[in-house]
Amino acid sequence: METPHTVQEVDVLIIGAGFAGLHMLHNARGMGMSARAIEAAADVGGVWYWNRYPGARCDVESLQYSFSFSSALEQEWVWTEKYAAQPEILRYIEHVADRFDLRRDITFNTRVTAAIFDEKSCRWQVTTNAREQISARFCVMATGALSVTRLPDIPGIADFSGPIYHTGAWPHTPVDFAGKRVGIIGTGSSGIQAITAIAKQAKELVVFQRTANFSIPAWNEPLQPAVQDAWKKIYRDYRLRAREVGSLYEFSDKGAAQVSQEERVAEYQRRWDKGGVNFVHAFNDLMIDKSANDTIADFVRARIRGIVKDPQVAESLCPYDHPLGAKRICVDTGYYESFNRDNVTLVDLKSTPITAVEANGVSTSEASFELDALVCATGYDALTGALLNIDIRGVGGQQLQQKWADGPRTYLGLMTAGFPNMFIVTGAGSPSVLVNMVVGIEHHVEWICDCLSHLQKQQLASIDATLEAEDNWVGHVNAAADRTLLPLANSWFIGANIPGKPRVFMPYVARIGVYRKECQDIVDKGYEGFTFAP
Ligand code: FAD
Ligand code: NAP
Repeated sequence: METPHTVQEVDVLIIGAGFAGLHMLHNARGMGMSARAIEAAADVGGVWYWNRYPGARCDVESLQYSFSFSSALEQEWVWTEKYAAQPEILRYIEHVADRFDLRRDITFNTRVTAAIFDEKSCRWQVTTNAREQISARFCVMATGALSVTRLPDIPGIADFSGPIYHTGAWPHTPVDFAGKRVGIIGTGSSGIQAITAIAKQAKELVVFQRTANFSIPAWNEPLQPAVQDAWKKIYRDYRLRAREVGSLYEFSDKGAAQVSQEERVAEYQRRWDKGGVNFVHAFNDLMIDKSANDTIADFVRARIRGIVKDPQVAESLCPYDHPLGAKRICVDTGYYESFNRDNVTLVDLKSTPITAVEANGVSTSEASFELDALVCATGYDALTGALLNIDIRGVGGQQLQQKWADGPRTYLGLMTAGFPNMFIVTGAGSPSVLVNMVVGIEHHVEWICDCLSHLQKQQLASIDATLEAEDNWVGHVNAAADRTLLPLANSWFIGANIPGKPRVFMPYVARIGVYRKECQDIVDKGYEGFTFAP
């Protein structure tokens, strides 16, 4: 093994410079600790740096999908759309980096390859692909739940002669689809956004759909200054509420069967007309009772049939294989309408699977499609991928890859036993991807910083989760998922999108407020379930 070029010592080493890494860096500095972040990308932004595909935008309203830690920041930033597009979100994150002078402590274009815990010094020895070594007391994994892209394992794909793009690793130079025949694989949130946008640019767009998905209209629109001003006047109140519920939706206290069929449909229609994820909160049992869920799924299937003119195409676009919301619900700006365009073709891979990718296109069991470019909106090795890509070794040289061979195991999603002083932001076992993620990130960063401050005050060298507490938490997370319909879908929540990945429901199905209280109770009980070294 080659010796590293340099060795630097810091209190806190942060991996990743998206929302999570930037917030952690800012707070660690605020505590007077030396901190440094390492980022594989050439600049800040995380997801919003990488996902430059046409149509990329948030599905939580811009006013809510933003940091709350600085009143000045939230007052000065002006959002232009109800759901901001990727360039605007990236500009916002860049503004955060500038405003708090964060870039001077971030090393870009550098990937962390290993993090080894040295028991003698009680420090993490972190190695990068630039052969630099950093010795850190604390390691914060802000590596992202959706940062490791996944290309489809389709035979012959390497032979395709045109460009192949993944939505999550989009080029920085403009991609011009004008006059081109484009194929797209994948109809998750990324695919649905990209299809809608590319359909308006390409000469022909062939959509290869394996599983139909539920999508709700966003009804995106310019954000009116009056709306934004009114919101900003009582931002604090909204933010406090968001700390309990994640996003400020209209939550119902009624079950779907408590109202008549007419009232139920009227409620679905009212929410459909308002748009967004609010739709899925129409009744309080939609995610726990299959018959309740069937009513909302039927409503959406009827909308699809109403929008898409060709009945056969409409039927192919209707999802039947999972309850609505058991896969991450999609939010769109004219997705189903795209299939009424003459230049868009839907290929249902369930009935006509891809048989080969060749130099000039894609063949299915029924037809061949000549293509100039291929877009893969095929998703991510979610939640665990970025961590397991790093050679992480804890006490006794235990490898994280080994420890998590049958699925991730964490305590509160924040730590994993046997890996002292290593914290995970929005990891498996936390509400993570099930809530407004900026709210989740802020909670985690605050919790971690409070913990670091506790260690400082008590003059403690390290904190670790106990195996017993971790086992109980994993059981608690599994039980929470099993009370819902979420495990019924073959989703990335459960690792189903990656062949061979352990089938474990990874995020914690709980309101962020419930989880926040659980985390706080544990702190109040003297960090119950954690051990400390003096
Ligand atoms: P990321 O933004 O993923 O940042 C992690 C960073 O770590 C990356 O830049 C990566 O390069 C870096 N990294 C990883 N491993 C290493 C390594 N070994 N060495 C160095 N660097 C490394 N959530 C919502 O709540 N609402 C939304 O509307 C929403 N929209 C989304 C749209 C898209 C297209 C995607 C993909 C996700 C979306 N999400 C949304 C989820 C999104 O993941 C979070 O909202 C949030 O951006 C995550 O921030 P993060 O800092 O935790 O992770
Ligand atoms: P995804 O939800 O995992 O969707 C991947 C799609 O690719 C699925 O339709 C999948 O089909 C298909 N696919 C994968 N491999 C395939 C193969 N070999 N052959 C054919 N089809 C294949 O990924 P994503 O769309 O990138 O979204 C990931 C998450 O990122 C979202 O759930 C959301 O949390 C976030 N996101 C949010 C937004 C937003 O609106 N703000 C936008 C983009 C992403 P199967 O379903 O059959 O596996």
